[in-house]
Amino acid sequence: MPQSPIVQLQKILETEANRGFDNGGIVGGLDKYAVHWQKAAEKAAVDADVVTDVVGWLRAYPALTVEGRAAEMDAIRQKLTSAVAEKQPSSAEPKAAAPVVKKQKAPTKPKAPTAAPAAKPVSSKPRVSGRLDPLAKVAPRAPLPPEPEKLQLESPMTIVSGVGKKAAENLSKLGINTIRDALYTFPRRYIDYSALKPISQLRYDEEVTVIGTIYSTNVRPTKNPKNKILEAVLGDGTGTIKLSFFNQQWLQKSLKPQMQVQVSGKVDQFLGRLIFNSPEWEPLEANALSTGRIVPVYGLTAGLSNKNMRKWMYNAVGYGARRVEDPLPEKLRKRLKLLNTNDALVGLHFPDSQEELAQARRRLAFEELLLMQLGFRKQRADWQSQQGVPLPSSDGWLETALATLPFTLTGAQRRVLNEIRSDIATDNPMNRLVQGDVGSGKTAVAAMAMAAAINNGAQAALMAPTSILAEQHYTGIRKLLANVPGIDWGDENQSAVRLLQGATPAKERREILAGLLDGSVKILIGTHAVIQDTVEFANLGLAVIDEQHRFGVQQRAALRGKGQNPHLLVMTATPIPRSLALTVYGDLDVSIIDEMPPGRQPIQTRVVYPQERERCYQFIRSQIEKGRQAYIICPLVEDTGKVVAKAAVDEHKRLSNKVFPDLSLSLLHGRMKPSEKDAIMDEFRSGQSQILVSTSVIEVGVDVPNSTIMLIEGANRFGLAQLHQFRGRVGRGEHKSFCLLMTESTDGQPISAEDISERLKVMESTTDGFVLAEKDLEIRGPGDFMGTRQAGYQELHMAQLSDLGMIASARNEADKLFKSDPNLEKPDHVLLKARLASFWQPGTGDIS
Ligand code: ADP
Ligand code: MG
Repeated sequence: MPQSPIVQLQKILETEANRGFDNGGIVGGLDKYAVHWQKAAEKAAVDADVVTDVVGWLRAYPALTVEGRAAEMDAIRQKLTSAVAEKQPSSAEPKAAAPVVKKQKAPTKPKAPTAAPAAKPVSSKPRVSGRLDPLAKVAPRAPLPPEPEKLQLESPMTIVSGVGKKAAENLSKLGINTIRDALYTFPRRYIDYSALKPISQLRYDEEVTVIGTIYSTNVRPTKNPKNKILEAVLGDGTGTIKLSFFNQQWLQKSLKPQMQVQVSGKVDQFLGRLIFNSPEWEPLEANALSTGRIVPVYGLTAGLSNKNMRKWMYNAVGYGARRVEDPLPEKLRKRLKLLNTNDALVGLHFPDSQEELAQARRRLAFEELLLMQLGFRKQRADWQSQQGVPLPSSDGWLETALATLPFTLTGAQRRVLNEIRSDIATDNPMNRLVQGDVGSGKTAVAAMAMAAAINNGAQAALMAPTSILAEQHYTGIRKLLANVPGIDWGDENQSAVRLLQGATPAKERREILAGLLDGSVKILIGTHAVIQDTVEFANLGLAVIDEQHRFGVQQRAALRGKGQNPHLLVMTATPIPRSLALTVYGDLDVSIIDEMPPGRQPIQTRVVYPQERERCYQFIRSQIEKGRQAYIICPLVEDTGKVVAKAAVDEHKRLSNKVFPDLSLSLLHGRMKPSEKDAIMDEFRSGQSQILVSTSVIEVGVDVPNSTIMLIEGANRFGLAQLHQFRGRVGRGEHKSFCLLMTESTDGQPISAEDISERLKVMESTTDGFVLAEKDLEIRGPGDFMGTRQAGYQELHMAQLSDLGMIASARNEADKLFKSDPNLEKPDHVLLKARLASFWQPGTGDIS
C-alpha cells in the first residue's frame, strides 16, 4: 500500500525544513507537488478543510520569503498530524464542499471554480489550448493559505519570492515599495498572445503563441566578434521555426533540446523565412505569465525585466488583491454592475480576456472619478465654510468706473463682471473660473474686479505665468484703471500698482514688500515671484490668476494663502468643453466670456507647404510694407529648452541675413533673462522691430494689435489648442489678419497630406476656440490637451476624461453620497473615506 499522503507530505516538509526552506524538499518544488498531493489526499478522504489549507499554502510557498515559509511550516505540520488523528472515524464521509467560500470573503472570480476546489481542483483543468489561468494556481482563485501575518498590503516587496535587495531598490525607483504599491502600479499596455497557432499556420507580423519542443540550439558568431546569436529550432509536429536571441548565449543553459516550451512573440522574417526574434518563452509546465495569454507590460527601470516583473507582480497581486478591502459600497457596485476591487485588480494585471480587462478598467476608472468628484465636493464645502471678506460694489460706482475705460465692455464681459461682483460681495470666498477665448477681454474684467476690491480698502494680486505677460498686464492695467473713481493710485508713477518679478532689483523689491505690508501698494502684479515666502500682504482681498492652466495646484494654493480666505478668480483661454471643465476644475463656478469685442476681423488661416515658403515670405513683406508687423514662430523641437532656443537663434539669423536683410527682426526665446525679454517685447510693441522671431514662449497673452500676420513653422507639431493660442496674437486690432500654418516633415520624409491636413484644416475652418477644443480632445485625448499639470488629486490612471458618460455617473453618485453622508461616516462608507484620503494627497488639496 502506498504511503498515506499525509505521511508523505510530512516527510517532504521535514526535508524542506532541513534544507533551509529552499523549496527543494521535493523535485519541482512544493507548489508543483500541491496538485499531486491534493488528488491523493482527496482520494484518501483527508478532511477537506485540511486539504484546502495545506494546498493553498503549498501553492503559495515559492512566493514566500524564507521567513514567511518557516513561519507557517509548524502550523501546517501540526494540522497534518491532527488530521491523522481525526481521520479514522470520519473517513467514510468526506465533506462535500470545501469551506473556501465560507472562509474567503468572496470568490474572486465568478468563473474560477473556487466554489468546490476540493472536488474539482482548479489547477487540474486540462491545458488544452495552452491558455492558462495562472491566478487559479496561486492565491486568489485557489484556496488561500492561512493568513500569514507577514503578508500585509504594507509588507515590503522583499516578501515576494525572487525579490531581493537589489530588485527591491529597482522597484522602489518605480514607486513600488509595498505590496499595495505593486497592486496599484498598472500595466502600461498589454500584448495579446492568447492566439495559439500551429507553426505551419504562422503569418508574418502577427503576435502569437506557439507550443512546441526545442529540437536544437546553437550559438552563432556575428561579424562583430563582440556579438553572438543564440539560435534554437522549435518544432510542433506541423513545422519548425527558428528562435533567435541576440547576445543572450547564457540562455543555452536553460533553453535545452527536448524541452517543451511555450513561445510568444511577433513573427518576423529573416532571409525569406519566418523567425521569432527574441521572443518571450517559458517552459510549458510553468505558470505562464509572459506567453500564451494577454500579457501585461509594465513600465520598467534599468535592471528590471518584464519577465521578472510579471512574476513578482503575479505574486504580489495574488497575495495582495484579496486583501484590499473594497472601498465602493456593495450596493453601489451592484447597481452600477461594477466588479469588486479584487477581481478588478486581478483582471487588470492578468486579464484572461479583453472583456475582463475592459470590465476591470471600467471599475477602477469609476473609482478614480468618484474619488475625484467626492474630493471636489469636500473641498468646496470646506472652502465655503470659511469666512471671507465681503467686497461689495455699488452699481453707481461701477457705471462711473466703466465710463473711464477706453472702450465699452461687451455684453459677455459685463455679465461675467456682474457674476464676479455678486460673488465677492458675500463673505463666502469666491472660487470662480473665467473662461474666454483669446482676445475676448478677460483682463479688463479682472481689472475691474480688482478695482472693486481696492475700493473696499482691500488689496489685490494678479499672477501671470511669464514675465512678458506680467509686464504687459502691469502696463495695461495701470492705464486701464488710472481714472477709476474713488481710488488713490499714488503719485504720477501710480506707485499703488507694482510689478514684482524674479528680476526685480533688490531695492525696488524691498520697497514693494514694505508697501504691501503698510497697505500703500494696492495691486501687485507679477510672476511666480508674488508667491515667494517674503511676500506678505496687509489685507489681500482678491487673488487673480491669469492663464491658470500654466500653474500647478500648489502655486494656486500659495497665492490664496497670502490672505485670509481671499476671493479667488482664475482665468483661462483654454476653451475646455463645459463638461470637461466641471470635471477637471471640480466645482469651481465657471463664467464664460463668449463674445468678442466689436470690430474684430476674422483671422484668415491657411495651411501652407514648404514649396510655398517664398510666397509666404513675400506675403509677410507686403504686410510690413503696409506698416504692419509679423510673428514667425519656430517649430517645436522635441528636446531640451536649449535646443529649442538654438533653433530659434538659427532661424533668426537665417531670416535676418538671407530673407529679410533690409528689415528689422528681433528674437525671443525662453532662455533669455526676463529683462531681455521685456526689452525685446518693448522693441516690438513700439514698432522698432518689424518681425518677431519667437519660440512658443509667445504663446500666452501677448497683445500687440499692430501685428497682422503670423507664420507658424512646423505647425503640424503643435496641438490645436496651442495653435489657437498663437493665432490669437494677431487679429487684435482693426486690420485684417492672417495666419500661415507651415507644415513640415518631422523625419525628412515627404509629409503625408492626410496626416496633417485633417487636423490643420480645422484651423482653417474655424476661429472658435470651443470647436477647436472639442476637435483637439477628439484627436489627442484629454491628457495632452490639458497639459501635464492637473489638480491636486493623484493622476488618473484609468479614467478617460473623454468618457463623459462615466464622468456624469460619477458626479451623480458623488452628489448622492455627499448629500446623504457628507463626512462619509456611515459604516458602509468607512473604507471609501480612507481611500479618499489617500487619493487626495495632503497639501495639494486645492481645487482649480
Ligand atoms: P484675453 O481675454 O485674451 O486676455 P485681453 O484682455 O488681452 O484678452 O484683451 C484683448 C484686447 O482687446 C486688448 O487689447 C484689450 O484692450 C481689448 N479689449 C478688451 N475688451 C474690449 C472691449 N470691450 N472693446 C474693445 N476692445 C477690448
Ligand atoms: Mg489674457
